[in-house]
Amino acid sequence: MNLILMGLPGAGKGTQAERIVDHFGLPHISTGDMFRQAIKDGTELGKKAKSFMDKGDLVPDEVTIGIVRERLGKEDCKDGFLLDGFPRTVLQAEALDEIMADNGGKIDAVLYINVDPENLLTRLTGRRVCENCGATYHLVYNPPKKEGVCDKCGGVLRQRADDSEETVHERLQVNIKQQQPLVAFYESKDVLKKINGDQSIDAVFNNVSSILGALAK
Ligand SMILES: [Zn+2]
Repeated sequence: MNLILMGLPGAGKGTQAERIVDHFGLPHISTGDMFRQAIKDGTELGKKAKSFMDKGDLVPDEVTIGIVRERLGKEDCKDGFLLDGFPRTVLQAEALDEIMADNGGKIDAVLYINVDPENLLTRLTGRRVCENCGATYHLVYNPPKKEGVCDKCGGVLRQRADDSEETVHERLQVNIKQQQPLVAFYESKDVLKKINGDQSIDAVFNNVSSILGALAK
């Protein structure tokens, strides 16, 4: 199954990605990891990406798309993948379709975790991230066993500066505006699967599982 995971920030994408990857044995392809790996491997595209990132510039589409193409061409993606953080624009989505066609496949489903933006404020400002391992928690929905301490590694949990209340509203507006055309694009291709994200983590994952179970048949 070739999947894309989408949702506004705070919709619970990270948590669901972990579950999907564990349960269905798919590689989790996040843009951040892809860039880090390409840079670490010192590939031509990795070097290019780094030169933009070092200047604080956005990595241009052709470089990003090239890195995605390389990553999806690897052995572990042969039986499917979960793509997270890409595509961000319709242009990138079209490029992805070309990559898929060249590899003899297609995107089977775009899982869109749909959350009432009103609820996202609570969600985003309650988020805590382990400064050591990057594990994410939530004060209300997914609290650590011990307040302020990571269950996985014992690291200190902190609120990201960009999870503060004043920046959240603006970030949401920007994201809603960005995602609309992409959502419409995948809706028109009949692969968009909207999942009610205003439920418990388990309930959301149950919905995801039944959608993917039906796809696999
Ligand atoms: Zn940790």
